[in-house]
Amino acid sequence: MQPTRDIDRRADRSWADNAVRLIEADARRSADTHLLRVELPEWSRWRDGDAEVGIDLYLKDESTHPTGSLKHRLARSLFLYAICNGWITEGTPVIEASSGSTAVSEAYFAKLIGVPFIAVMTAGTSPAKTALIEREGGQCHFVQRAGEVYAEALRLEAERGGHFIDQFTMAERATDWRGNNNIAESIFAQMADEDHPIPTWIVVGAGTGGTSATLGRYLRYRRHPTWLCVVDPENSVFLPAFESGDGALTSDAGSRIEGIGRPRVEPSFVSQVIDRMIGVPDEASIATARCVTNRLGRRVGGSTGTNMWGAFSLVAEMVAQRRTGSVVTLLCDPGDRYSTTYFDDSWLAAQGFDLGPATAVLDEFLATGRWSG
Ligand SMILES: *Cc1c(COP(=O)(O)O)cnc(C)c1O
Repeated sequence: MQPTRDIDRRADRSWADNAVRLIEADARRSADTHLLRVELPEWSRWRDGDAEVGIDLYLKDESTHPTGSLKHRLARSLFLYAICNGWITEGTPVIEASSGSTAVSEAYFAKLIGVPFIAVMTAGTSPAKTALIEREGGQCHFVQRAGEVYAEALRLEAERGGHFIDQFTMAERATDWRGNNNIAESIFAQMADEDHPIPTWIVVGAGTGGTSATLGRYLRYRRHPTWLCVVDPENSVFLPAFESGDGALTSDAGSRIEGIGRPRVEPSFVSQVIDRMIGVPDEASIATARCVTNRLGRRVGGSTGTNMWGAFSLVAEMVAQRRTGSVVTLLCDPGDRYSTTYFDDSWLAAQGFDLGPATAVLDEFLATGRWSG
């Protein structure tokens, strides 16, 4: 008889136990984000026999997370996933290829569990963004060209014995799509006592694609008849890839709507769970961000403008079909991050943006409920 083989790799798990506890404790201290009801004009209500019926529009305000955007959820999921996979252990430097909201949120969670965080970004990144990352205790590492960030993140991972947390690959799998208070479960719970608790449409943009993947899977899992619409800005390949089925498409130009639209079809973009895509011109996204800012009395970011342009067009479609129901979309991040861009007229002029035509579409929609966009 051969000797019994016994490979015993038991190791002390107290560091991981405590890191998970710290992240769970942070979630417990945090409140859920609000689901705001957006007031629509009178044309959104009509009589059907004796009943007054109509359309309700909701905006889930993801800007109220501790790190100010929907990336707070993603960063929490990515850290839990990496810790529970044994990829992040005591002292592991965490590396991300991002200068955006994800890096800000990841820096927050890295500090929370006491590991270093390095965001790899291009040298041109605005000081305001690097300041947000550094304020959360993160370190900014610069490369010359945008195309170099992934290779540099991988190089740092190898050199420092770190972990490249890689939002664009991991977003779709790190989030618990069946529930665990993910964004989908939260929306449906918050809608429970509304006139139309099961939305006709949910409208979101795609950056990693993680949010749309979670929502689309959840709709199927819970057998809700809700349709999922993904809105996409200019220069993004998500919509052309959705149309043609070609996952290898790339684009040379980058998206000008921060947080959404990508030059390659990211691994976390799950096109099979998307029911419809609407391409939104950048001028329309910005004009809508400004319009929504005026109506809500608080600044919203560009991708929220993209979402609301899509949501408005679907509301108009439902009005035209005399179809009652609700539409839900997201307020992804606050507009004060964009005071020197989308909310700055001289920046707009320098980009050659003319918000006139899009503003006219919005004015007509708000006045009549009709859509000419
Ligand atoms: C990331 C992001 C999105 C898109 O979310 P994903 O889940 O990554 O697709 C939208 N708006 C903003 C501001 C973002 O940062």
